[in-house]
Amino acid sequence: AAAEENGGVPPFEAPEIRFTKLFINGCFVDAVSGRTFETRDPRTGDVIATVAEGDKEDVDLAVKAARDAFDHGEWPRMSGSDRGRIMTRFADLVERHADELAALESLDAGKHPAVTKAVDIGNAAGSLRYFAGAADKIHGETLKMQAQFQAYTLREPLGVAGLIIPWNFPTTMFAIKVAPALAAGCTMVLKPAEQTPLSALYLANLAKQHYSEGFELFLQAGIPDGVINVVPGFGPTAGAAIASHMNVDMVFYRTKINSRPSRVSFTGSTEVGRLIMEASARSNLKPVALELGGKSPLIIFDDADLDMAVELAVSATFFNKMSWQGEACVAASRVYVQESIYDQFEKKLAERMQSWVVGDPLNDPRVNQGPQVDKAQYERVLGYIDHGKREGATLLTGGKPCGQKGYYIEPTVFSNVKEDMIIAKEEIFGPVMCLMKFKTVEEAIGLANGSRYGLGAGVVTRDLDVANQVVRSVRAGLVWVNCYFAVSSDCPFGGRGMSGFGKDEGMHALDKYLAVKCVVTPLRGSPW
Ligand code: ADP
Repeated sequence: AAAEENGGVPPFEAPEIRFTKLFINGCFVDAVSGRTFETRDPRTGDVIATVAEGDKEDVDLAVKAARDAFDHGEWPRMSGSDRGRIMTRFADLVERHADELAALESLDAGKHPAVTKAVDIGNAAGSLRYFAGAADKIHGETLKMQAQFQAYTLREPLGVAGLIIPWNFPTTMFAIKVAPALAAGCTMVLKPAEQTPLSALYLANLAKQHYSEGFELFLQAGIPDGVINVVPGFGPTAGAAIASHMNVDMVFYRTKINSRPSRVSFTGSTEVGRLIMEASARSNLKPVALELGGKSPLIIFDDADLDMAVELAVSATFFNKMSWQGEACVAASRVYVQESIYDQFEKKLAERMQSWVVGDPLNDPRVNQGPQVDKAQYERVLGYIDHGKREGATLLTGGKPCGQKGYYIEPTVFSNVKEDMIIAKEEIFGPVMCLMKFKTVEEAIGLANGSRYGLGAGVVTRDLDVANQVVRSVRAGLVWVNCYFAVSSDCPFGGRGMSGFGKDEGMHALDKYLAVKCVVTPLRGSPW
């Protein structure tokens, strides 16, 4: 009956939460300190599990396991094709357990389970398969050198990777870091975000399992113990311990927000990026890769189909139909509309937002937008909305919290936003669109490049010349023409400027986990 009332969708059933401890050397263990922390349901703020809280001592143990697995274990030594076969089976297992994993993730992150399954888990399996296929295509080159020598290069696994991931797509983030590191032959210590620790533990357990018959014995064993270690905990403790560890050989930190440190109680992630580089500089000079989010522009020209442009702007900012409440690092948070269609666009946009449904994404299939991930985020987004009002932007829609409990915010559109307003400059990471005007292509490009960040960008036009001009001139890691958010395992993802450096996905992602070694040999006998 409940399902009938709900358009045929059965009520969400919370999954059993089986893994809440640290995963070190293939075993679930308590934190050395015995401490735990709570992870909450963003729909209600209720505690869903207490999770072991890793700190420096636990990171030491995890790094030791990863170091041993790298220095003495089979993973870096087996052939790329064997690693690829094991990774493919890991991808199969992720898909087999997609429903349970989606339920777990939806509960922890407050997302729609069907969307989590299709997008978050679909991408994770896709990334594991892509890099499984890449594992046996890692090779060097032969160099002619001068007369009596020749050289070749080896691309060797770098060693122990430290992976620090955020909460907005926990399963995908896990896979897009772990998959290239595995393919390269690295071992790793991963710290999930404190808001969403559950899926990484579930995945680490899955990586260990095997299901297939008919493989040689060692291939049946899944990914060996010590290769993937997961230490849930907080940034300044567990995260900082990874970044400053003498035995970690590279660190990849990924976040979504360039928050101002003073806004709410936590440090902004641009600041965290700096801390991580500092920690590397002060310890063993490990290479660092950073993905720090952005303030991505979407430029709409007056020859665009207006309905399509409105719909695209809405999904690029709010994630239409995906219930992700603007929590995406590439979200188009600056929307520039050509002056000649600005008023029409604004009117259509306001109309469009009237049918936008905010609510519990786990139980209502009509919902476009769910709750923000936690109280801190919720307060932070509302803080920015207040700023927008005080700075004198026109509030076109939304602008308030909504719902009786949980962290819901109305989809908010500010119009007539000026370049120097805080809402136009800083990443809000919530359901807030900033609408601005431009006259010419050159002006639009100038405005788009007026940000220190350089992650995504979008352009909507039917004019190929205009599209090409924007594509070539805009400073960004990803540009979408007449679309947005389309990504896939083979597309390199990552920004420029203060959005960071180092790519996720695509063959470029492997580079971070590999060291190039040049080997020189004489052609005939030794000249000495
Ligand atoms: P956001 O919540 O905006 O993504 P955070 O930097 O707080 O930004 O979170 C991203 C990840 O980085 C999380 O796993 C978090 O625990 C971790 N983190 C936060 N501060 C530090 C730090 N000082 N050193 C290492 N990792 C950190």
